[in-house]
Amino acid sequence: MTYDVIIAGAGPAGTAAGFDLVSAGYAVLLLDRQRFPRKKACAGGLTSKAVAQYAYDISGLIERSCHEMVIHRPDGTSFVIRERRPLCHMTRRADLDQYCLNRFRSAGGQFRNVDRIRSMVQHDDSVTIHTSRGAFSARYLMGADGANSRIRALLNHKTLQTRPYCIHKIFGLEADVRVSRPEQVSMTLAFFQNQPGYYWIFPKKTHVNVGIFSRARTPMVSEKNLAAFAGRYLGTEHLSHVTGYPIGTGGGWLCGSPGRVGFFWPETRPGLLNQFRRRHLFCRDIWPGCSNSCHGRVDGEKRAVSVYARSLSRMRLDLTLSRYAAAVLYRWPGLCLNIAAIPAVHQHFAKGYAAGRPLSRMFLP
Ligand SMILES: Cc1cc2nc3c(=O)[nH]c(=O)nc-3n(C[C@H](O)[C@H](O)[C@H](O)COP(=O)(O)OP(=O)(O)OC[C@H]3O[C@@H](n4cnc5c(N)ncnc54)[C@H](O)[C@@H]3O)c2cc1C
Repeated sequence: MTYDVIIAGAGPAGTAAGFDLVSAGYAVLLLDRQRFPRKKACAGGLTSKAVAQYAYDISGLIERSCHEMVIHRPDGTSFVIRERRPLCHMTRRADLDQYCLNRFRSAGGQFRNVDRIRSMVQHDDSVTIHTSRGAFSARYLMGADGANSRIRALLNHKTLQTRPYCIHKIFGLEADVRVSRPEQVSMTLAFFQNQPGYYWIFPKKTHVNVGIFSRARTPMVSEKNLAAFAGRYLGTEHLSHVTGYPIGTGGGWLCGSPGRVGFFWPETRPGLLNQFRRRHLFCRDIWPGCSNSCHGRVDGEKRAVSVYARSLSRMRLDLTLSRYAAAVLYRWPGLCLNIAAIPAVHQHFAKGYAAGRPLSRMFLP
């Protein structure tokens, strides 16, 4: 069988894209090398904006909505941000991904486990991938296989117009901690003294998730430090389900023929929200119309690419702003957090954030 689209990777990006395409009437095969439910390094915190991006209701998977966030400054002092609307919704990532996969399947999509994607061959009007579980063909192949994408590696990047390997790696480590009263624990961020990074505490229903993140490759990101942090703030150094991951901040792609369509977004930041936005933008809002263009398929593809590039550029201002804001924060964390500690400042941002406003609308008048 030749599918309309094969999607490699059944994370949030792959299942969101798959759901949109199946709902639009396309035959979609979703592949993943892991068996579900699977553990993925992720704190499972979703902003209201991210929750709103789901094509279906996920409220049943939200274990807790946090209206309060404690920020610890590098000098050890702290302040609390409170907001009427939730600042963050806590889910368990394994459950969320399993639920999204179920929704994709019940909408009519097909899912297969493949241990390995060996090679990819592009034909005139289709693409075939050879896997450990046999060969699969489709008109289009979409890479949604995460930061260390195999599809990206298989694509001949010289054919793409922009740099496909702009993978800036940042590092994260997370774990679960059992505490007796998780409902009494606040969402917390604690910034490092001399390094660009922070610890977090994300409280769930029956446990809390703790993590450590740095923009630099640093020995700070270690299980020992994470355990010491848990000991200091939660009273126990016992961590379970410790998972670490280099996070690549880089693209998403689609390849097909003719035209060898390829995309890359060099400026995206990690996070579920941006994965959704990009996939939705393309799969739900642009692709179906353009690929069914009355002027033929090649024309439809070209149109899709240019409409997509234009639409994406509207997201770019926010992505760029958030990149600069992060750079300034990590360069001068003490100064930035002193400014953020001013109630009028953090209330303004907390309100905007909880309301799902883009950064540009919070920073600019
Ligand atoms: C420690 C940590 C904490 C985080 N916390 C948060 C958070 O609280 N909130 C938030 O919004 N974001 C968080 N993130 C970021 C978030 O996890 C990612 O942005 C998100 O998972 C990206 O989704 P994705 O679908 O693009 O990729 P992934 O979720 O990585 O999914 C990719 C899928 O592809 C599969 N795959 C990979 N290679 C192959 C292959 N060769 N063949 C077949 N399948 C393959 C994988 O098994 C996986 O299922 C965190 C990340 C880390 C590392």
